[in-house]
Amino acid sequence: MSNFEIVGFALSAVLSIIAFAFTNRCKACGYLKFSFYHVRGFDLKLAKAYRVCPKCGDRLEAGIIADDGIVFWKTGETGEINSDGHYVHFGGSHE
Ligand SMILES: [Zn+2]
Repeated sequence: MSNFEIVGFALSAVLSIIAFAFTNRCKACGYLKFSFYHVRGFDLKLAKAYRVCPKCGDRLEAGIIADDGIVFWKTGETGEINSDGHYVHFGGSHE
């Protein structure tokens, strides 16, 4: 691999991260780190889980809450809202 190819590879990796961040930015305020930094929010009445923008507080629907309090995120991750009302994360790709 030549230096040029290495630079090109690194550049395309960076560009795809930027494109990912841009696609998943906060729709309300344009916060680009939204896909990496967000707060979890829950609405038990609607049985919906949200990603909440730490900058403006806008909520993006990101999962559902089952009757038994298990949270199924669209990312494939799961968690549970326990009897204290606190969220416990079961596991996933980036935590
Ligand atoms: Zn925002």
